[in-house]
Amino acid sequence: MSTKMRIGQGYDVHQLAEGRRLILGGVEIPYERGLEGHSDGDALLHAVADAILGAIGAGDLGRHFPSSDERWRGIASSEILSQTVALMVEAGFVIGNLDATIIAEQPRLSPYQEAMHANLVDLLRTASERINLKLTSTDRLGAIGRGQGIASLAVILLEEASA
Ligand SMILES: [Zn+2]
Repeated sequence: MSTKMRIGQGYDVHQLAEGRRLILGGVEIPYERGLEGHSDGDALLHAVADAILGAIGAGDLGRHFPSSDERWRGIASSEILSQTVALMVEAGFVIGNLDATIIAEQPRLSPYQEAMHANLVDLLRTASERINLKLTSTDRLGAIGRGQGIASLAVILLEEASA
């Protein structure tokens, strides 16, 4: 019997703005600016959720959580990701592995990397070794390098849940 597998990728970027809390990977990070967005602007959790939706062939986040819908105003992205994971489970899949990258110049995120990793493990209902979280910068190049925003990439492999 072969295991059915599905692959998905996600990309997200949000602007950093004054007067917002900075939430990344579900972790509140002390900083003078935060990510702009209809939700809490958590670019990492959005990229991961989009990758899952892609893998199960369910479109994208904009379709499931449209910013035109007042229901989703100020929603925690951990809630968005939980609901996406519920769709994944309903479709009969579990996490094979996730490889995600945060691209940010400021602030320094490494002190929060472990907490973000732990949140991903919980939210995706999987084991620690199946989740990989990387941090990088653009060497001060471009908009992200000037600190105007934070981006995230995610590649995910799903495996058919064993009956
Ligand atoms: Zn987003």
